[in-house]
Amino acid sequence: MVQCLSHTRTLRDYCLQKKYRQEVSSRRKTELMNAFSEVLSDLWTTDMSTAVHPGNFNTIFKESVPHFIGYSQQDAQEFLHFLLDRLHSEINRTSPQNQPISDLPESKYNKLREDKKAMLMWKHYLEREDSKIVDLFAGQLKSSLRCSSCGHESTTFDVFYDLSLPIPKGSVSGGRVSLKDCLALFSQVEELKSDNAPMCDRCGKHTDSTKKLTIQRFPKILVLHLNRFCASRFSISKSTATVSFPIHHLDLGDYGTECAGKVLYNLYAICNHCGTVHIGHYTAYCQQERGWFCYNDSRVSPVSESQLQSNKAYVLFYEME
Ligand SMILES: [Zn+2]
Repeated sequence: MVQCLSHTRTLRDYCLQKKYRQEVSSRRKTELMNAFSEVLSDLWTTDMSTAVHPGNFNTIFKESVPHFIGYSQQDAQEFLHFLLDRLHSEINRTSPQNQPISDLPESKYNKLREDKKAMLMWKHYLEREDSKIVDLFAGQLKSSLRCSSCGHESTTFDVFYDLSLPIPKGSVSGGRVSLKDCLALFSQVEELKSDNAPMCDRCGKHTDSTKKLTIQRFPKILVLHLNRFCASRFSISKSTATVSFPIHHLDLGDYGTECAGKVLYNLYAICNHCGTVHIGHYTAYCQQERGWFCYNDSRVSPVSESQLQSNKAYVLFYEME
């Protein structure tokens, strides 16, 4: 994950140039950000034949997220969540006392057009959360609920830093699916019935409803998590399906609002997981000026574009064109 972030050029340059020091008050503690920038700086200045030891970063990260102390296997996507969250709070440009200024009464809000609602929610978010991490990774997801008995529609807008995509069932035992199949499953209309039935504001009770997710605002850096780990009641299983994904010009326009048009992304890093639910190993494929490289602990070796797709791909990093 650190390798993938280290190949996120805008973030890397921001860290190497210590730009956050100009953005936040000098009294603000930026311990984790300093340690993270230190690792990036070592990675990009040390000559390729020596490995970098991120010991200090590791210690500070674990102090900040005690749940990661010890040597048991942790989930890379979970690590990314915590890391981005902690880095963001250290370099947040808004002050903690900032209260949202522009609160609208609910009755007025409900009368707004959908795109106005989305814009307002986004503005509210930025009043409290505003950093380089937000600039790069934050997107907005629209969730529309429709009551099946009265037809009432309600929408909510949530900020996301990655999208967790389900892998179609039936492909668990090593089949082949495409990223499009995963995206279709993610954005398909979902029926919410009986125990899952949500409360309808108009009916005033829990009713059968449908739910649909749409990407309202696309982030500059799109992190796609291929959700290979599927929890059933008694166990967790891992899907070893090969998910094929485009390296160039991934178009997500179909998953956005009607006026989105083409929204194109290019792949620049992949976090791979091999092994089982309980024991495994992470590697990264990242794109440099000189092509793609595989980062496997202290070893770095070139890989060709045709080798990037495998059943180990776990988290994909795309940059908007
Ligand atoms: Zn209703």
